[in-house]
Amino acid sequence: MDNQGMIAMGQDYVMNTYGRCPMGIARGRGAKVWDGDGTVYLDFVAGIAVNNVGHCHPAVVKAIREQAEILLHCSNLYWNENQVKLAKEIVANSCAEKVFFCNSGAEATEGALKLARRWASRQGKTAKNRIITAANSFHGRTLGALTATGQTKYQAGFGPMLPELIHVPYNDLPALAAAVDENTCAVLLETVQGEGGVLPGEPAYFAGVVALREKFNFLLMIDEVQTGFGRTGKLFGYQHLDVTPDVFTMAKALGGGLPMGALAARGAAATALQPGEHAATFGGGPLVAAAALASLSVILREDLPAAAEQKGRYIKERVGGWTELAGLITDVRGQGLMLGIEVTCDGNKVAEECRQKGLLINCIHGQVLRLVPPLVVTEAEIDQALGVLREVLAGCRR
Ligand SMILES: *Cc1c(COP(=O)(O)O)cnc(C)c1O
Repeated sequence: MDNQGMIAMGQDYVMNTYGRCPMGIARGRGAKVWDGDGTVYLDFVAGIAVNNVGHCHPAVVKAIREQAEILLHCSNLYWNENQVKLAKEIVANSCAEKVFFCNSGAEATEGALKLARRWASRQGKTAKNRIITAANSFHGRTLGALTATGQTKYQAGFGPMLPELIHVPYNDLPALAAAVDENTCAVLLETVQGEGGVLPGEPAYFAGVVALREKFNFLLMIDEVQTGFGRTGKLFGYQHLDVTPDVFTMAKALGGGLPMGALAARGAAATALQPGEHAATFGGGPLVAAAALASLSVILREDLPAAAEQKGRYIKERVGGWTELAGLITDVRGQGLMLGIEVTCDGNKVAEECRQKGLLINCIHGQVLRLVPPLVVTEAEIDQALGVLREVLAGCRR
């Protein structure tokens, strides 16, 4: 189906919940995608930080093909080999002791919120049910996750939100210290706020959060949905910080391109949810778990976190050297290949002009260009993408 065919049929039959670009994506390979008319693009959106190993990585495709012939679904009333192996791999490469599988980031957030309250109620502390998250955060769109999301624009019209979920400014330790008390069961934070504008958390802030945890005994929960699986230059974002979370959530890149979410926990949090207390019909199914295992093994074997670190630094250096655009570019920030370029011109227009020149990037809040390419993107592809971006930005200046 060509672009026009997809657009017309989509407008007729699909709920109008996204601001979509006027194109359909027909296929992808590595850091490239082709639209319905056969035009090729460099994909620096990567399904929004999903395709960390690139589109259709051969190892992931092979794992899916092979598993598809064996078993697609079997229910969590039974064990399946891929799920248990994947849990073991996540535990082996993080601070976690146990993993729960679900299907998306929002669902992982929901699981974390429930886990925190159950952890407290299991100790008989039923009033210890308050959860604190950051203003400007993003944790998903289901009602619990939406309440946790500290951006009122996403909540407007969907009230009332969940009680005892409050937001405090990010990277502001006094604000958190003022909000937290013995009735706080959890603090949920991103290590780099993604949808919020690619805003990295400060190490001193997180050190302060850890000190507050010592004092008030809440669960420190990290949302690794966007930062996870090598994106920031470490396998998980918290590994940049002197922080050991009690719980962390995953999704986006976890399934190698297939939909999958998870939450991982250690200590008492790892056993807070007991049989019958939480579930997901499709969670950790054999097919997605096969894809996730293959993807994680590529990330570890090829040391894609280190590649992300090195490529991200290269992009920052290159963009930082565009002296003719000083004033137009006010900030280049982020970690690894999770980068934000803040501009003074209309960022949505920049993203659209880049698209017309064969580069997909995404703009948040109208002024932050988010670059989250596959971690396997080549230096030649980066150079080509930056060439397009520089040319488009130079045009904005006029
Ligand atoms: C994308 C995202 C989510 C939501 O994930 P979905 O799979 O879209 O529900 C949650 N948290 C963060 C940090 C995200 O970037």
